[in-house]
Amino acid sequence: MTAVGSHVSTRRGFREAARWAKEMGGDAFQYFPSNPRTLQLKRFDSGDAERCASWCREEGVVSIGHSAYLLNPAAEGDVALQMAASALNDLAIAEACGSLGTVVHFGVIRGDDPLAGYRRIIDWLNRVLAQWQGDAKILLENQAGDHGPAGTTPEELVQIRSLCERPERIGFCLDTCHLFASGEWNGANGEAFGRRCDRLGFWDGLVAVHLNDSRHPSGSRRDRHAAIGEGHIGDAGFRDLLAIPGFRGVPLVLETPPDADGTHRAQIARVRQYGEGENVQ
Ligand SMILES: [Zn+2]
Repeated sequence: MTAVGSHVSTRRGFREAARWAKEMGGDAFQYFPSNPRTLQLKRFDSGDAERCASWCREEGVVSIGHSAYLLNPAAEGDVALQMAASALNDLAIAEACGSLGTVVHFGVIRGDDPLAGYRRIIDWLNRVLAQWQGDAKILLENQAGDHGPAGTTPEELVQIRSLCERPERIGFCLDTCHLFASGEWNGANGEAFGRRCDRLGFWDGLVAVHLNDSRHPSGSRRDRHAAIGEGHIGDAGFRDLLAIPGFRGVPLVLETPPDADGTHRAQIARVRQYGEGENVQ
């Protein structure tokens, strides 16, 4: 059984977010542990987080957090320390809510020395994870290529993880819109992509999928999510990708524009149909 759901608001708290996710027909969801537009640390209601965790356990719902967009593991200087504190805050909240981890984008490498950028990403992950004892993981997300080529390939995710001091504390979150926009997968070469990931040992690290359609064609390097089945990936593209055995049992979370009724109910139902008799059930 593969869990499916969407990103939900925590306006009414973590437990309510989980309940709403299920009401939409989901058994997975994503939320922002703290404000996604700042690096400010959040004081959270630990009672609410615990109720979220126990409710999800009882109801069979899985969740992931998503850290601030400002967070860039490749950043230089003092801001990198602030970003590490923000990530640790999110890990603590994700842990309290019973989540699998918190998603962090791979990182934007500035300057003309990409190797130094990869080094900074590894150092940053080491710094964060040296201070972290919980089970929640940092979930590194592949990028669309709109800020340069770094972080678009499964090779980079696997390599960065393996070079870190605590790889067991790092997982991957694969975004299908980014994968498609970057050109790493074109909507029809899922089998070859699956074999490439087999050789890399990529699947062992895969914890979650951001299942998003794309407003722009494969190779466009543009990051604009579309509703499921309404973009350039389409139903055939998702079937191509989700047929890869490596996705079996990995939660699928939508970060897409809502349906006409303001929810993700219809899109979640649509995703479940992809797997009838296959991986997603
Ligand atoms: Zn994403």
